[in-house]
Amino acid sequence: MSEKYVKVVLKSGKDQSLRRFHPWVFSGAIKKMYGEPSEGDIVAVFDNKDEFLGLGHYQIGSITIRVFSFNEVEPDYEFWKSKIFKAYEVRQNFGLTDAEHTNVYRLFFGEGDGIPGLIIDYYNGNVVMQIHSIGAYKLREILVEILKELYGENLQSVFDKSESTLPKKGPVDAKNEFLLGDSQTEVVKENGLNFRVNWIDGQKTGFFIDQRDNRKLLQKYSLGRKVLNMFCYTGGFSVYSIRGGAELVHSVDSSARAIDLVKENVGLNFSNAPHEAFAVDAFKYLDDIKDKYDLIILDPPAFAKHLNVLSNALQGYKRLNQVAFEQIKPGGILFTFSCSQVVSKENFRKSVFAAAANAKRNVRILHQLSQPVDHPISIFHPEGEYLKGLVLYVE
Ligand code: SAH
Repeated sequence: MSEKYVKVVLKSGKDQSLRRFHPWVFSGAIKKMYGEPSEGDIVAVFDNKDEFLGLGHYQIGSITIRVFSFNEVEPDYEFWKSKIFKAYEVRQNFGLTDAEHTNVYRLFFGEGDGIPGLIIDYYNGNVVMQIHSIGAYKLREILVEILKELYGENLQSVFDKSESTLPKKGPVDAKNEFLLGDSQTEVVKENGLNFRVNWIDGQKTGFFIDQRDNRKLLQKYSLGRKVLNMFCYTGGFSVYSIRGGAELVHSVDSSARAIDLVKENVGLNFSNAPHEAFAVDAFKYLDDIKDKYDLIILDPPAFAKHLNVLSNALQGYKRLNQVAFEQIKPGGILFTFSCSQVVSKENFRKSVFAAAANAKRNVRILHQLSQPVDHPISIFHPEGEYLKGLVLYVE
């Protein structure tokens, strides 16, 4: 069955990671290609002794093949459908598709769900796709058909937001565009709270769904506390801490649009909340808040997008956390995060550790946080673990 695809043979010994079901083939692992695949084509990968290893999408770059099947399958409509439907089942099993309290979730998370490079988010009947590989991009039409089958009449729109996630100089000229319908925004529900999501203008697919469980945990710690939500974006953490009974909540983001959004979102949930929002740079704001807050959230954008800037990123996390340690009230709680994929759990923890030592504060780890069930990590692909968080008690 695999004969109809260009055959790629790996160098001796370079088959080991595929045998352990890691889905990436790096350019240096390839010994020979029997043909000239176009980017996005399906290729069949074999070891040096001609044993079949998997089917994957070909793309020029350091990750040359992204494997989507380790079996000799026919990658037809039914094959892709079963991947999407299985991903849906996982969300369903864990209560995310019961729309009464939550109608926003990540339906499909790339390697974690078995199609590298494909992200699909669901916003109450509206689907936003962000595609990171040319092979997955070529599946767009099929995906729309599958989504129609999955959601039926509930499906209002499908927006493809891959312009910034695919190579600029590749064979596809990706534009952000609707593949179905034209809804631009929606008020969604997460754990019974309302949020306005705008996938056209918003960051990423419009909402940071990955912090859902961590926001819920924050709510538990909010009662009677003075809360500072740094890098607040849509104000998810702010809204949960208001519901948790915070004495006051201040939201800070350098983007004025984010500040408008957080105000709108607070207003969608509470008529008279002890909340204020400021459009200002985080480091500037943190400079002058000595003992003002006893709960601080630090959820900055990814400081490192590539390995070559890792050490700068680690310095950035250290500097940011150090200021927070220096300023937080005794007995305060710090929720601190990193969403940089190249920063490991250990490296992040070391940066925060160094920050606490420099600030000379005694710190206990209360929780170690990660990403929720709709951002699953394949056990064979640890790179899928990108969100790391620590909840710290600062004596
Ligand atoms: N905590 C948010 C997600 C944060 S995304 C949530 O739960 O939804 C990161 C945010 O940091 C973005 O909104 C971006 O505008 C903001 N940001 C980036 N650099 C900043 C800076 N130097 N100071 C303040 N905010 C910044």
